Amino acid sequence: MTHDAAELARLDRAHIIHPYLPGSATERVVMTEGSGCRLTDSEGRGYLDATGGLWLAQVGHGREDLADVAHEQMKKLEYFTSFWEFSNDRAIALAARLAGIAPDPLNHVYFTSGGSEGNEAAIKMARYYHHRRGDTDRTWILARSKAYHGIGYGGGSATGFPLYHEGFAPMMPHVSHLTPPWPYRSDLYGGEASTPEQVTDFLIRELEERIAEIGPDKIAAMIGEPIMGVGGMLVPPADYWPRVREVLDRHGILLIFDEVVTAYGRVGQWFAAQHFGVTPDIIVTAKGITSGYVPLGALLVADRVAEVLLRDHGFPMGYTYNGHPVATAVALANLDIIEKEGLLGRATSMGAFLHAELQAQLGDLPIVGEIRSVGMMLAVELVEDRETRVPLPLDPANMPHDVIRRETGVIVRDSAHSLVLSPPLIMTEAEAKEAASALRGVLERTAPTGE
Ligand code: PLP
Repeated sequence: MTHDAAELARLDRAHIIHPYLPGSATERVVMTEGSGCRLTDSEGRGYLDATGGLWLAQVGHGREDLADVAHEQMKKLEYFTSFWEFSNDRAIALAARLAGIAPDPLNHVYFTSGGSEGNEAAIKMARYYHHRRGDTDRTWILARSKAYHGIGYGGGSATGFPLYHEGFAPMMPHVSHLTPPWPYRSDLYGGEASTPEQVTDFLIRELEERIAEIGPDKIAAMIGEPIMGVGGMLVPPADYWPRVREVLDRHGILLIFDEVVTAYGRVGQWFAAQHFGVTPDIIVTAKGITSGYVPLGALLVADRVAEVLLRDHGFPMGYTYNGHPVATAVALANLDIIEKEGLLGRATSMGAFLHAELQAQLGDLPIVGEIRSVGMMLAVELVEDRETRVPLPLDPANMPHDVIRRETGVIVRDSAHSLVLSPPLIMTEAEAKEAASALRGVLERTAPTGE
């Protein structure tokens, strides 16, 4: 059954509940094809995907090599469970591969189908780990405001935006939110912090105080995105994670990195943990593990944690799709592409190129407060005034990212007053220039240069 563009839009409005889209909204962009960084919709209009879907299309759209792998695997073994003693060769190969690229001692893998499931599993693992060691009071989870950890009740409770909690209460108890590291907004630190080191000092003091308030022997883990994505691409000072790790270690609190966005080359390394020189106890990954070709997630778990989880009857929690053969086969092929095409290095070099382009095209605009990036995660923070750094008031009906897409076909994302770019790692220089000039064309009208 094929439908024309108008009929597709009508059926979509009639039947699909989209996240974050009011029922009154009439516009639909119905994608039908993708290749590289380009997408085409049902009306034949072309787009430049500067968001990598939702931060994940590392190797780009429309790769026949990945489609072939899925096809071959489905013909061979489409599915069998990984519960109990059952396994499959693709899941085994991927787990061994992940253990090889992850920092030691993260040598154990627990598969999921995505990031939200991954964070649920990580939070439960942390509590269960302490429980099995007899530390049964360790139930608290430390998180940060502006964090995004998915839609489950565990990860959703660790998420630090009131919007994601409103109407869903009661959220999971025993979650405590700390201040996020955001050096551009020193007002968050009571005007006390003007250097990155002072930001870290403030945050470490707060962390120590919070641990003392709750009780060090009541806290299971701290969960954090090494670089906060949905919160607006917030990059912590270089000493933040090493110092957090040191405090947590001192109190026997596990560290969970939510690398659903940052893993698999996005920041120029396999994992952002490597970028910050910190090895957490659990890394939650998803998205880029398959570049989005099929849903998959993987938790990388440190030896000492896995050893406890695997005692006696083993870890009592599984998903139907744990270690799905097709998803793990595609992930292996996707990691091969990232390696063979040198996409870790490319994320660093192309990220720097795109950053320089954004700086050249937007740097003089009064509404552009800060342009920041790590690898192929970039953000342009919009302000009313560069001096006061007050966030730019935005008209919900004409959000800059919507105007940019409608007028230029370049897709970027809005995250907390920042325009965020996370393109496929294969983006070309010409595409980077196209993206930067699309932003310029719209943002200069939002606040004309020199006004
Ligand atoms: N964690 C982070 C940091 C994310 O950005 C996301 C999604 O964007 C998730 C978790 C949730 O992942 P999923 O949408 O695959 O459930």
